[in-house]
Amino acid sequence: MHTLDGKKIVVASHNAGKLREFADLMGPFGFEAKSAKDYGLSEPDETGTTFEENAYIKAFAAATATGLPALSDDSGLCVDALDGAPGVYTANWAETPDGSRDFAMAMQRTEVALQEVNAATPEQRKGRFVAVICLAFPDGEAEYYRGEAEGTLVWPPRGELGFGYDPVFLPDGFEKTFGEMSAEEKHGWKPGQPTALSHRARAFQKFAKARLGSP
Ligand code: IMP
Repeated sequence: MHTLDGKKIVVASHNAGKLREFADLMGPFGFEAKSAKDYGLSEPDETGTTFEENAYIKAFAAATATGLPALSDDSGLCVDALDGAPGVYTANWAETPDGSRDFAMAMQRTEVALQEVNAATPEQRKGRFVAVICLAFPDGEAEYYRGEAEGTLVWPPRGELGFGYDPVFLPDGFEKTFGEMSAEEKHGWKPGQPTALSHRARAFQKFAKARLGSP
């Protein structure tokens, strides 16, 4: 098994929101964590049909291009009443004809789909954010860490913080949406703490335990 002794890792993402969260999560571990964007890498096509496949595509592309271990995250929102959609297509639901991304539109699209299936009560509007982190090495060796956060889809969107679909996601046991939470509340986690809240932080927590010697 390869090690991470070199303390250098590429974060295989161009997504500003994800990169911010990874920087917060990696901070305590003393890694030099540059992003695929910093290395001038292009974004590979996410042709997989599972979070794991897409996470591998991104991490392996960054690892082979840089010769360094790479960490990627493939994530999305899975809504029960929509048979798990948008799922691996969560980012695609935000795509506009000019190729940019519009998350206000994506959240609206999710809401319209929920209304079409008459999902009105919180119980009918259950879903979860899923994140699969893949650590890949240039020779193709790879491992996966999955984190999930259960919650309810709310409408209208609430809060200006976070990114993506955060304003419509109310995590179980909380009164604030992810869009109303500070970075610390959403994904803050310190080594040794029991459980983080967000899907990405939960996946990262497993990675840190397995690979970074975190308690
Ligand atoms: P991908 O992993 O790059 O394919 O994109 C996943 C998409 O899921 C992102 O573009 C976001 O819209 C959404 N997403 C993933 N994680 C979060 C999150 O923590 N908050 C809000 N949206 C998220």
